[in-house]
Parts: sequence; structure tokens; C-alpha cells
Amino acid sequence: MSFDLLLAGGEIVFPGVGVRTGSVAVKDGRIAALLAPGEQASARKVIDCRGKWVMPGLIDPHTHIGFGSNETDFETESRSAAIGGVTGMMTFHRSNDLRQSTGPWKERGESQSLIDFGFHFGVTSKLHIDTLPECAERFGVTSIKVYLMYKGASGAAKGFTEIDDGLLYRALLQGARIKGGVVGVHCENVEVIPVFREPLKEAGRNDLPVWDEQSPGFLEAENVFRVIYFGEKAQCPVNIVHMSSAESLEIVRRAKRPGRAPIHVETCSHYLSLTSQSPIGFLGKVNPPLRSRNDVEALWEGVRDRTISTIGSDHVPRKRETKGPDIWKASAGFPGLGTLLPILIHEGVHKRGLPIEQIAAATSANVAKLYSIPNKGHIAVGMDADLVVVDPDREVLVDPATQESHSDYSPYEGMRFKGAPVRTILRGRIIASDGAVDPDARATPAGRYLHRS
Ligand SMILES: [Zn+2]
Repeated sequence: MSFDLLLAGGEIVFPGVGVRTGSVAVKDGRIAALLAPGEQASARKVIDCRGKWVMPGLIDPHTHIGFGSNETDFETESRSAAIGGVTGMMTFHRSNDLRQSTGPWKERGESQSLIDFGFHFGVTSKLHIDTLPECAERFGVTSIKVYLMYKGASGAAKGFTEIDDGLLYRALLQGARIKGGVVGVHCENVEVIPVFREPLKEAGRNDLPVWDEQSPGFLEAENVFRVIYFGEKAQCPVNIVHMSSAESLEIVRRAKRPGRAPIHVETCSHYLSLTSQSPIGFLGKVNPPLRSRNDVEALWEGVRDRTISTIGSDHVPRKRETKGPDIWKASAGFPGLGTLLPILIHEGVHKRGLPIEQIAAATSANVAKLYSIPNKGHIAVGMDADLVVVDPDREVLVDPATQESHSDYSPYEGMRFKGAPVRTILRGRIIASDGAVDPDARATPAGRYLHRS
């Protein structure tokens, strides 16, 4: 049998299981065979993978496509993803009426995205709750997000007037009824934030650490407790997205027990690498805030003991000019799709000795499982040939000019990470090589919508 593509003699990374030397053969966009060392096969194209990891393409569980430019984000941000070894992304879709907006947004992605993409629905009103079963069915969406930080005045400023604990509980009841349903929640107690913020502002503070001081980790932990308690009562799986603090993790560990509705935890590459003390100024403003070195280490421990099951980037591709003029007015969030994998290899594998298969699990297999994404996240015969070849020893210097993003900065700019994707493959097609988008993939992007059941 002749194959379309052969990734020859690499270290194949099986998520959560281990690493084994061998070759991956691809035909018609799928993994067609796994060959032991020495087994011969012919293919139209052969890539020598000796000394390289061959991993499942990453599926970033948390991105905000459209926050940079509605018109072009799918195009630019999926290029940035491809360079970074990411072959799938879940992005948040929010609108007044999801029944009207989801179809056109999906079509835009299908015409522009270089990588596969799926949606989480942002739920901000009772209409969203009421129309959720219909939208879940029509668009194959099983995951929603509730934004507890947009309660009250902070929500009103964004046009959200219905977010309260009642809406959260309705979302959980509805989420429990959807097959494979999971409710993600942004946890931060915005009602208490002003208690800290007002005196800090009066004192004239204008620095990155103050963002953490005005919304300390225990305000996240308090919301986490409420969400998992309500989740248990509503018998709905919950997902604490972008977890930032050690205290939150501890609450989850205490609440987990057999028989209750699952509690999933996601964290992000920045909470595993940056702190409020990182010398990056307003570029580091994000919600929830960057925390302390102690929180970073605690979150890595959570990845290691699997309390944390998925890791994303919370990619927000706005321009540098929005990151000011002061910490209070600067926009929150920053780009991260292109740097997700190098950061996790550098910080996780090289610095902390985590096995690569665990990083692979948190960025592919666990994401596919949590969000019911079929045929992705594993290296096995019959799965989509979404693969990334990684040089564990190659260093990348983060330069926003080479990231292809709508965004023109990175909180990691000037930093070096060891561990770089050298080939990114989507359903058997090479979409990026050595930090550059493949010209053919750029000309004819072929990302597909991830319709989940
Ligand atoms: Zn959030």
C-alpha cells in the first residue's frame, strides 16, 4: 500500500499514555497505519522525524476569534495557530440572538480558517437559555459559558443586564439536559472587587501587580465554590475555565468525589508561565489576573495530578494600542495561540520534568473528549491526521512580527522558549513549516467546522 504522507521514525506521543518510536502513515486525510521501527512503507511525501516528537495537533479549548477584527480574525488567527502547532480551536460565540448569528459566523470560519474550529456559546440572557436546546441541536454545540464577572454594573457597561446567580442556575439546569453538555464559568466575584479597587485607585496605583491586588485569587475561589456546588445540585458537569489561583484548585480537589456531576478545570499558558511581577507592564492585563509564583507552581501541580484537564490560550487578538493608557483603562487579554505549545514544552517538560504525553493530553485528547469532538485528539488508525512534528530542542524567540496575528504585540515578546513545532498537519495536509504558513494553505484555507453531537 502506498500512502500520501509518511512521518518517518519519530517519537510518537500518545496522549496520557507514553512515547514510542515509529512512523505515522497518512492516507486520504486520516491516519492509515502506525509502523514499528524498521517497517518499510512508500509514500508520495516522506518527512524525516528522527529525534522529533510526533504529537496530535493541538486543539486550543479557549480562544476569542472576532475580538481583533470580525472581518479577518478567522484568517489571521488560524495562521498564527498553524505556526504554533494548533490544528483545532474552540472559540466563544456571543450575540443577542444565537439563532440568527451562528450560521453566518460559522460560514465565515469555513471560508477563512486554516484550521478546524468549533463554538462555545456565551450565555448572557434568558433568551439564550430558552433557545439553547434548539441552537445546540442545529449547530452541534455542547458547551456554553456564563460570565460571572459581568454581573451588575460591570455587565451593564457591556450591555448585559440579566447576569446573576439565577441565570447561572438556569444555565446549569439547561446544560444538564443537553447530551454531552458542559457549562464553563468565568469565576471572579465582581461585587467584591470595588472594595479593593477603590483605595488602590485613590492611592494612584498604575502597575501590573495592582490588577491582581484588586481581584485577589480568593474572589475566584469563592465563585468556584458556588459554581461547583450549584453544578452538583443541578447535576450538570461544570468547567472552571482559565483557572488562575492555587486556592481555586484546592476547592476543586476538596469537592471532587465519585457520584457527583464532573468538575473540569482548564487553565491557560499564561497562568503557567507569567506572574503579576513579570516585567511586561500593561501587556499583562488579563481577567482573571496574573498571580504569584506560588500560584504558577500550584497550577503545574494541578496539571501533574490531573485536577486540571485542559490547557488553552484565551487568545485575544487586539492591537497593542488598546493596552493602555493606564492599567485601569487597558484592554484585558492578549494573544497566545502561536505560543501555547512552546511555552508548555519549555515550562512543563524542560523546566519541571512533566512527560510530553501529559502536555499532549491536556491540549488534545482531553479537549476532544470534554467537548465531544469526534475523530481528534489521538494518534490511532482511522483518526483525522491532525499532527504536529516538534523539535524538543529548538528555541523560539517570540517576535510578534512573525506571529501572523491581527495583534501586533505579545506579552512574551523577546522571550525564548525551547521546544518548537516544525511541521503542522491538518487532515494530512501540511499547513505550516518551521514557523511559516504554507503558501498553498494560505491561498486555500480548508478548516472545517466542528459539529459536535
Ligand atoms: Zn473568561
